[in-house]
Formats: sequence, C-alpha cells, structure tokens
Amino acid sequence: MIYSVALDGPGGAGKSSIAKQVAKSKGIVYVDTGAMYRAIALYMLKHNIDIHDHEAVVQRLNDVKISLEYRDGTQCVILGGEDVSTAIRENPVSMAASVTSAYKEVRAFLMDTQRNVAKTTSVIMDGRDIGTVVLPDAQVKIFLSADPVVRAQRRHKELLEKGQTVDFDTVLADIQQRDWQDTNRTEAPLRQAEDAVLLDTSYLTFDQSVQAVLTLIDEKVGK
Ligand code: C5P
Repeated sequence: MIYSVALDGPGGAGKSSIAKQVAKSKGIVYVDTGAMYRAIALYMLKHNIDIHDHEAVVQRLNDVKISLEYRDGTQCVILGGEDVSTAIRENPVSMAASVTSAYKEVRAFLMDTQRNVAKTTSVIMDGRDIGTVVLPDAQVKIFLSADPVVRAQRRHKELLEKGQTVDFDTVLADIQQRDWQDTNRTEAPLRQAEDAVLLDTSYLTFDQSVQAVLTLIDEKVGK
C-alpha cells in the first residue's frame, strides 16, 4: 500500500532530521519541500534578482531547473545541473526562501513536482503546507513544533558545529522573523491541519521524537 506522511511545522523544529530517520526505518522516500523553495531563492540570489520584486521573481521562474536525486538514500537538490544541497542551507538563503515562497506563482511552480512524487511511492514529506494544501489526503499528518528558544538553541549548536560563528540572539531573531513571515502570508500559510496530530519536541530527545512519529504511522497505516 502506498501512503503519505505529511510533516509540517516551523523552521528548526527538527522536521528534516526526524523525517530522514523515519524514512530510513520505514523504507519510504523523504521529500524535503523546503529544499525546493530554498533552491528557487538561491537561483534568484545568484542572478541578482531582487527577491522583494514579485514580478521579477515570477519572470525568472521558468528558467529555474530543479531536480531531486537520491544518493545513498539522501535527497540531493540539483539546480541547473549543480548539486546545491549545501549552499541552500546558508542563512541568507533561508531568509530569502521565506520571502519568495510567499508568492503564489512560486508555490504553484513546485506543487506538481511535490504531488507527483507521492503518487508513485510512499513518502514522508516535510514543509509548511503539506497536510493543508499539497497532500490534504495524506494518511498521516503531523504538526511538529517546539518552543522558539529551543529551536534557536538547536540551530545555533548546528551552526557552531559547522564552524560558522553566529550569535544566539541573531539566530533567535531570524527564527522568529521566519515564523512570522511563514504564518502571516496569504498563500498557504503555516498552520496545523485540523486532522493533524500536534507533536511538541521541546522536551523530547531526537530518538524519542523519531519513535513518536513511527508510532503514529504504525497506528494509522499499520506496521
Ligand atoms: O523547511 P525549511 O526551513 O527548509 O524551509 C525554508 C523556507 O521555505 C521556509 O521558511 C518557508 O518559507 C518555505 N517553505 C514553504 N512551504 C513548504 C516548505 C518550505 O513555504 N512546504
């Protein structure tokens, strides 16, 4: 049986690392939709397009060639033939993605790709609007959340481990700004689907969070 797991929530709640581990355990495909929005933002930044100029961004959309490839079970994002999986994680790209993802043409551009993957294989797809807009019929819907300060602490630690020097207050402010932008936009705002289960990971370890998601999947679709 083909099934879909929609995993939504704000940035830094642990969606992607949890989804990756769950995909491995269940032998299903992990689709990181945030990476696609990030790739569009990166394209615009690389081509010096003003991301706040809605028209200019939309005009260049058809030049953006994104594909997803799976190498050793990990999703790689290919932009115009180049693997940009690392470049899209930079902070300016995160902030830009939150701006360009608010444009309805940008969302429409990615919608088919996202839906098509879920038609042919079981997936765990993470994002902001998966349970509400992209896969409203997903068998399992989870809204992953965590206190903004806890999310900022996790992100800060991650950045330090990568050798980036950034102060905690900046990370927290960026998280709060992205939360605000993602929640208050008109197109597909971040919100919990009515039939989604809320999972707050503030006080859960990574393993406990993964286990909680696996249990929910088993309850809904069987082992
Ligand atoms: O999940 P991630 O932090 O990688 O997403 C980057 C940005 O892409 C988010 O801040 C959000 O604005 C946008 N996004 C979205 N819809 C999704 C996934 C991500 O609008 N399904």
